[in-house]
Amino acid sequence: MTLTAAAEIDALRVAMIGSVLLPTDQGYDDARNVWNGDIDRHPAVIARCESAADVAAAIDFARRHGLEISVRGGGHNAWGASVGTGGMMIHLGGLNAVKVDPAARRVRVGGGAMLADLDAATQAHGLATTAGTVSHTGVGGLTLGGGFGWLGHRHGFAIDNLVSAEVVTADGRIMRASQPENPDLFWALRGGGGNFGVVTEFEFQLHEVGPLVDFGLLFFDLAHGAEALRLGRELAAAASRDVTVLLAVLTAPPAPFVPEQYHFQPGCAVLVAGFGASDEHARIVARIRESVPPLFESVSPMTYIELQQILDETNAWGVRCYEKCIYLDELSDDAIAVITQHASGTSTPMSHAVIFPIDGAYQDVGVDDTAWGGSRSGYVVFIIGLATTPELLDAERTWVRSLWQALLPHASGIGGYVNSLAQREDDRVRASYGPAKYQRLARIKAIYDSNNVFHRNANIKPAVSAG
Ligand SMILES: Cc1cc2nc3c(=O)[nH]c(=O)nc-3n(C[C@H](O)[C@H](O)[C@H](O)COP(=O)(O)OP(=O)(O)OC[C@H]3O[C@@H](n4cnc5c(N)ncnc54)[C@H](O)[C@@H]3O)c2cc1C
Repeated sequence: MTLTAAAEIDALRVAMIGSVLLPTDQGYDDARNVWNGDIDRHPAVIARCESAADVAAAIDFARRHGLEISVRGGGHNAWGASVGTGGMMIHLGGLNAVKVDPAARRVRVGGGAMLADLDAATQAHGLATTAGTVSHTGVGGLTLGGGFGWLGHRHGFAIDNLVSAEVVTADGRIMRASQPENPDLFWALRGGGGNFGVVTEFEFQLHEVGPLVDFGLLFFDLAHGAEALRLGRELAAAASRDVTVLLAVLTAPPAPFVPEQYHFQPGCAVLVAGFGASDEHARIVARIRESVPPLFESVSPMTYIELQQILDETNAWGVRCYEKCIYLDELSDDAIAVITQHASGTSTPMSHAVIFPIDGAYQDVGVDDTAWGGSRSGYVVFIIGLATTPELLDAERTWVRSLWQALLPHASGIGGYVNSLAQREDDRVRASYGPAKYQRLARIKAIYDSNNVFHRNANIKPAVSAG
């Protein structure tokens, strides 16, 4: 490092409340670490920000030194958007405060908080808002791309519950975005990803949830898999908003609730979560049992917090991952056949695919009311390859791609959930939003980030003004 650069790093350290880490500093390796163990990148500088002013100082430093910026919320993005080699990582881990206003049913949560932080603080008041299904995911990235979760059928996407946000823009301004304040920015933040600035605080609407909820996982062998998924599809469509039904292909884990003879057997599952009166949940579970015999099941009440953590271990920090996702207008019998035919093709017991119906409260908000990158109907299929070694991950990559390709003829296009892209895929980003929404986003991008400073994301290129 030159003397000037060293002096500038010292100045940044003085300007920030949080710490500034260089590769030789203690804590650097921890801070550059992201969830996907297949990603091993080395930023030149990591700014561990603890305030909006810290973020503004870090952006200013990076821009003056020509450093590519990556923004790390929970570090879960599967292609490693939040860490690059040789650039500046803006690490938001220190911005994880959660303040609940139970009377107003609102929560303010720091831009670097984990879903677990959000769930713990809100459940202390019997409240919750839609968050993802793995509690060590970041609120930041999940929300800005949309945010599916167990509560989505009842309360919509995470973005549908967003009331306001504090944002640091590319030129270092600290702005508030909400329906009355900077509505264009507020619209873009709700689905447009990390393109428009660094969100240092989210404010969400809360709902009464739990503390006890009902959960059921019913597992079927492959001979009954397609039948079970077809039934799950019908039950999901008929269920009230209090019940969420998800479908999956997976390998039976060596868990205590799985009889030993079924450990590592590939199959299908119907997962049923109930947030209202227990009888509807019980009726749905009974209907499944009577219609298609499960190999085994795990059905019991649990706390909402336990539900939010039920998939944490399967998706443990440090596992290697390659994922793709695809939208289907219909979950036709043919599409189900394609999915079940691929169920036994994984090389590791961890890989799986999960199908979320996009109905119920997901449809309460108009398609153009937010920047959500997809339709508000149909299904999303997450295809997730997980492995412990690079060699095994190669095989899972092949499996993920092969299922994705096979589903393409049944899909509504090449677009997909922008939070689950496999890599930087400009064509798929455009396809996800569609031309009109992409253009609107590009015009807003030109206002708030005309130089595309924030581009390590599902990137929206700033519109070039005709003048
Ligand atoms: C195991 C696992 C389970 C998942 N489950 C779900 C699920 O149930 N529902 C769902 O909808 N998605 C789910 N996802 C996808 C998830 O939404 C994305 O991976 C998302 O990017 C994670 O956000 P993060 O903050 O943890 O990621 P990071 O890697 O830290 O960030 C990803 C990108 O988001 C942006 N970003 C993050 N925080 C901020 C911020 N505060 N301000 C501005 N930009 C920011 C940046 O562009 C950053 O590059 C899951 C992913 C994994 C790996």
